[in-house]
Amino acid sequence: MPEGDTIFRAARTLNRALGGQMVTKFESQLPQLSRIDHDAPIAGRTVEKVDAVGKWMRMYFSGDLVLVSHMLMSGSWHIYRVGEAWKRPYVQMRIAIYTDTFVAVAFQVPIAEFHTAASLARHRSITRLGPDMLAEEFDEESAVVQLRNRPELELGVALLRQSVLAGLGNVFKSEVCFISQVNPFRPVASLSGDELKRLIANARKFMKANVADAAGDAIITYTGLRRTTDRADPSARLWVYRRTGEPCRRCGTPIRSHKQGLEARTTFWCPSCQPAA
Ligand SMILES: [Zn+2]
Repeated sequence: MPEGDTIFRAARTLNRALGGQMVTKFESQLPQLSRIDHDAPIAGRTVEKVDAVGKWMRMYFSGDLVLVSHMLMSGSWHIYRVGEAWKRPYVQMRIAIYTDTFVAVAFQVPIAEFHTAASLARHRSITRLGPDMLAEEFDEESAVVQLRNRPELELGVALLRQSVLAGLGNVFKSEVCFISQVNPFRPVASLSGDELKRLIANARKFMKANVADAAGDAIITYTGLRRTTDRADPSARLWVYRRTGEPCRRCGTPIRSHKQGLEARTTFWCPSCQPAA
C-alpha cells in the first residue's frame, strides 16, 4: 500500500503539471465519474490545485468540483507529456485528465469520487483522519495525545490507524519501531512519554526525508523508492521491512515477522533490539 509520502509526492507532481491549467479532455472507465462528466463536463474547467491529506488525494476543479482518490494496494497516478508513451497498458487506465501539455493518468485506482465542497466536508474517511504526518502545522503533542487515547491498541496497529495518525503505511510502521527501539506488539498504554515522542519524531523524519524535493521544479514521475537507512545501496535501504531471517543491521540477530491486528498486516522487528518487555 502506498504510504502518505508517496501520495504527497504524487499530488505535488500533479499540482505542478496541472495547477492553473485548463482541462482539454477527460476520460474515465469508472461509471460514477463518467456520469458526472456527462452531466457537468470536466473539459473546460481549470485545475485549481492538487493536494494530499493522509493517503487521500484531492484534485480541485473550477465550478466547485473535487476529485477525491485513494490508491489502496494497487493504484498509482502517473504524469506524462502529451504524446508520450504510457508505462502501463491502456486497459489499466481508470482516469485520464488532459491539458495542452500534460496528461495525468490514474491506473487501477480503486476509489475515486467527485465531490462538491459541501459533500467533501461530510466525507467520513477524510474528516475523521488524525493529524497528517506531512502537514506543516503538524503538532507532536497532539499526536502523542492521539496515541494515548487508544491505550488498548498494539503499537503496530495504532501507527496504521488513519483516524489516529494520518499518512503512515506498513513499511514505515516497522522501520519507525525499529529505529525507535520499541517492540511493535506492546500496547500503547505500556509506552513512556519519551518513547511515544521518539516514535512520532522518527515517523515524521522518515516521511519528510522521502518527500525531500531534490528535483526543484522539474516534473518527474515518482519512482516509489523509499529508504530509511541513509545508505544508497538499494538492497540496504530498509532496516527490517521484508528482511525475515536476515541478520539485524545493528546486532546480527535474525529479523522476525508476524501478522498483526485484525487486518493481519505483517510486522517486522529485531527481537534483540526491540525486546517485548
Ligand atoms: Zn538487532
